[in-house]
Amino acid sequence: MRIIDILIVGGGAAGMLAAVAARESARQRRIPDKDFSIVILERNDRTGAKIRISGGGRCNVTHDAEPGGLLAKGFLKKGEQRFLRHALHVFRSGDLLALLERQGVRCEARPDGKVFPVAGLAAPDVVHAFDRMIAERAIAVETSCTVNSIERSGERFAVTAGDRTYRSASLILATGGVSWPSTGSRGDGLRFARLLGHSTIKPSPALAPVLTADKPPSELAGVSLRSVEFIASAGGKQVSRKGDVLFTHRGLSGPAVLSLSRDVAELFRTEGSCRLFADLFADLTQDELQEKLLSETRRNGARMVRKFLQYSTDGPPASLIPLIMSHAGISEDVLLSGLLRGSRIALLNTLKRFPLGSVKAVPLEEGEVSAGGVSLKEVNPKTMQSRIVPGLFFAGEILDYAGEIGGFNLQAAFSTGWMAGESAVGSQ
Ligand SMILES: Cc1cc2nc3c(=O)[nH]c(=O)nc-3n(C[C@H](O)[C@H](O)[C@H](O)COP(=O)(O)OP(=O)(O)OC[C@H]3O[C@@H](n4cnc5c(N)ncnc54)[C@H](O)[C@@H]3O)c2cc1C
Repeated sequence: MRIIDILIVGGGAAGMLAAVAARESARQRRIPDKDFSIVILERNDRTGAKIRISGGGRCNVTHDAEPGGLLAKGFLKKGEQRFLRHALHVFRSGDLLALLERQGVRCEARPDGKVFPVAGLAAPDVVHAFDRMIAERAIAVETSCTVNSIERSGERFAVTAGDRTYRSASLILATGGVSWPSTGSRGDGLRFARLLGHSTIKPSPALAPVLTADKPPSELAGVSLRSVEFIASAGGKQVSRKGDVLFTHRGLSGPAVLSLSRDVAELFRTEGSCRLFADLFADLTQDELQEKLLSETRRNGARMVRKFLQYSTDGPPASLIPLIMSHAGISEDVLLSGLLRGSRIALLNTLKRFPLGSVKAVPLEEGEVSAGGVSLKEVNPKTMQSRIVPGLFFAGEILDYAGEIGGFNLQAAFSTGWMAGESAVGSQ
């Protein structure tokens, strides 16, 4: 049995940063490394499995914004914003970039704010940088070490991983969410949190594709709808998100779909069914779109309706036009001047609410993140310490928040990890 000062379960973004922050904080207090043990236990045979696959292997490490901007763009639920505010102020995206740069990983922001390592560097280089930070700080990483039980034993935690047992005064749970379970994040931490007395919100999909009951026509797979309003509707409720929608072989993906998937999954779960639509002219009201159609008819009545759609600025892609015409009940060779009032209204209705099918599933395991996790009400947002169990800290995706695409989830994992590591030292 080993006695550890700070034990961290999970060697992902949050766990690694927690360890780095803990050592920095211990050194600032002039505690010699040899007198203060920090250990990460990781089930995989190496650290950072999810970072390695993030951003399609390029790793969108963070987003180029001050904390206020990160919160407004990256976290759409007010309660999650309130919870993350402190951590994102304490450890900012600039702090992360400075740490990486010291390890030779220079990053740059794209015009959309996403920050990636510069050309030539990729996600594994980011993980290697963290591995070096950890080695330089005399932090022990025990890989191929799956924690299977955690108990509170007097003032300490008793942690068992196979035949190894550890006791520690401070324990940081950074075991991630439940999506992409092959990366090692399988919800173990939620079980440990519950056993220690915490409530957890059932994990649900986020940033996930949406599978439709009828697969999209094969000619649409790979086609994108640009800047549409993606709408999900069920039981008189409706949610929507503006952005691009991508048709896949199994349903829908793309930024707007991924972003709304958390709400779609919730609607589908509560209502039992959910229908999907796209407003193909999201920047125009139905009246404005009608005016556009009528003025074009006055100017150029001999033009075919389908040509008008095809060459409209921000109009639908060519491969969708036959489906739009057929749904509106208009034959393909109708001229603008031949479009009777009833057909015009049917066309406008279709363009403003083009049906994309019914939801079959929003697969939890395929999301870039999972929503749900340890209840934020039971964790102090200024320290990441449990409000229920002294000495217990949480960091990263194990907590009940989910960010948008754009580097927000990694930054939240790094920031909450940093805060948990610093506070764990301060609490001893
Ligand atoms: C395909 C994909 C692409 C992504 N791309 C981006 C991106 O570009 N930008 C971005 O910001 N976010 C991205 N994300 C999300 C981001 O990677 C995660 O939100 C973030 O890595 C979560 O960090 P974490 O440390 O909380 O959890 P994780 O990275 O999941 O780490 C948890 C660790 O705990 C270990 N563990 C779990 N249980 C145990 C146990 N019982 N014993 C020991 N160890 C255990 C796991 O093996 C794992 O290594 C992506 C996610 C996916 C799936």
